[in-house]
Amino acid sequence: MKIVDGHCDALTKLFQNGKLEFNQDVSELDVCIPKLQQAGVKVQFFAIYLSESIPNPSFEHVLQMIDIFHRKILNHPQMRWIRTASDWLLIEQTQEIGAVLTIEGLDALAGNLTHLRILDYLGVRCAGITWNYANWAADGVMESRKGGFTKKGKLMLKEIETMGIIVDVSHLSVAGFWELVDVYRKPFIASHSNAYHVCPHPRNLSDDQIKAIIQCKGMLGITFVPYFLENLYSSAQISTILKHIDHICALGGESQIGFGSDFDGIDQWVKDLRHVGDYGNIIEALCKNYSESQVEAFLYGNWRNFMLQNLPQ
Ligand SMILES: [Zn+2]
Repeated sequence: MKIVDGHCDALTKLFQNGKLEFNQDVSELDVCIPKLQQAGVKVQFFAIYLSESIPNPSFEHVLQMIDIFHRKILNHPQMRWIRTASDWLLIEQTQEIGAVLTIEGLDALAGNLTHLRILDYLGVRCAGITWNYANWAADGVMESRKGGFTKKGKLMLKEIETMGIIVDVSHLSVAGFWELVDVYRKPFIASHSNAYHVCPHPRNLSDDQIKAIIQCKGMLGITFVPYFLENLYSSAQISTILKHIDHICALGGESQIGFGSDFDGIDQWVKDLRHVGDYGNIIEALCKNYSESQVEAFLYGNWRNFMLQNLPQ
């Protein structure tokens, strides 16, 4: 069965540690070519995420990460870059694994919309507005003042609508989420967030938020971060992931569910889900509870449909 994974931080690890090689099966990388092949992952999204250890993230850092994406990931013949819907269709005719470039948090752009347009030209296809805290565009979900978008951030939303970049609301504040729903006219995604109803963590989405994503025909990437799955996160299991899927299905989101693991961005793991190669264990659990066509849609078909409709042609 083919798989799409809508979020990982392997790029950050490759950026931080020049010795890591993406085609080698090393324990430091949850996502690497041998593990992607082991599970049958067909398309992996790679986030440009500048960790908090970089004191003043600049556009130069973003460009360095894009350089790493090309030199460390796309340089391997097993990998193929996806920028357009036709790229996606092309890789389906091959054994190659598709790589979608995304960005998590627009902090390093410092409000410069020219830089945002350049990211569009450079093939960035999804953009999380914030990480957990406030930036020039909006407040993140952990920012205590709980604000929404800035004036500049709202201007950016108008501009990004004209680009080939899909907006990602994972990490965005609740106020920001609803302001976006008011003004933004395209489908958007939450690449790695779960259901608040099942696990009340601020990074998760309320039922109303989930319904808004369903309404706009967006996508919800179920994430494997243990503390977004269950409050007693040390006991998070694959069955816990199914609870989130059941809940989103009950809200009518069956065609909007996909996965966004957050592998390489986590330091605790769900039992039996230590790395991307372990997707087979989820497939097994899903097949016990859902029909084959539903399982295929959660793992691949829903992301595929969404991306074919929302990527540039
Ligand atoms: Zn994240």
